Amino acid sequence: MNITTAAPATRTVPGPAGGRVADLHLHTFFSDGTFSPEELARRAREKGLNIVALTDHDTVEGCGRMAYACGAEGLEFIPGAELTAECAGVEVHILGYWLDTGDATLQTALEKFQRVRQDRIVEMVRRLNAAGVPLSLQAVTTLAGCNSPGRPHVARALVAAGMAVDFDAAFERFLKKGRVAFVSKARMDVTTAVGLIHGAGGVAVLAHPGIYRNDGLIPQIAASGLDGLECWHTKHTAGQSTTYAALATKLNLVATGGSDCHGMAKDHPLVGSVRLPAVQVELLAARRPAQP
Ligand code: AMP
Ligand code: FE
Ligand code: FE
Ligand code: ZN
Repeated sequence: MNITTAAPATRTVPGPAGGRVADLHLHTFFSDGTFSPEELARRAREKGLNIVALTDHDTVEGCGRMAYACGAEGLEFIPGAELTAECAGVEVHILGYWLDTGDATLQTALEKFQRVRQDRIVEMVRRLNAAGVPLSLQAVTTLAGCNSPGRPHVARALVAAGMAVDFDAAFERFLKKGRVAFVSKARMDVTTAVGLIHGAGGVAVLAHPGIYRNDGLIPQIAASGLDGLECWHTKHTAGQSTTYAALATKLNLVATGGSDCHGMAKDHPLVGSVRLPAVQVELLAARRPAQP
């Protein structure tokens, strides 16, 4: 097993000393994280966070439990999701915050994306089997145990079945783009994603722009009605964060940040490793659409 023991480096975003801090990008086992909402909330409190947002991929199902757990831990909670979207053929992720999780249009859209994710797992297993890797579909669906499964679940099932040495090796050998079991996901265009979020009373933030290696897309995405840009993220260097914060100012976007913690899915849990001053959360909250 490949265990990384070093704690993640902390990204403390410039802000008032001793002020309240937020982590606005967190996953639970309702998508591809490994923590329950209760465990995530407990760890967030232990890390000294004051405000957290749950942003599972294409689902808001964990938000009810997370709201309750955060209440018990004395944390302020923001219900959210991370929507799979597309701009000019590039997969991009749009974070929605303060979503009305009962919004019917949002729920219908999310259910569609979840069905596509479930069908995609079936196709991934079929391709693995055709390539001589005898992973069973049930092994993946049992391990995933959620409505919004993804490649990390397949990776963990491959490791558990002894068909890959570790999580990263599973991606490298089978799951990354260009490999035998890679299947692209359904994605809505960014304008649709931003519209769904606004329609559900939320604000829309472009997640981890550094991952796309396509900064030229950011102004185009911003023009679809974006409210914020995730400048601080575990996969961004300090230099990237500074550059994105300047770009956010230029594009009239709120500069936000989050760890993108997936629990123990990969090495050390990241929750609390990005610490966003509460003032940024207040600026973001001010972008919430007026309630009808
Ligand atoms: P999916 O949404 O099913 O396409 O899975 C995307 C998730 O897989 C992301 O959250 C990443 O954390 C993880 N991932 C994507 N590519 C890799 C890779 N090459 N190695 C390890 N993890 C990856
Ligand atoms: Fe993920
Ligand atoms: Fe993402
Ligand atoms: Zn994420």
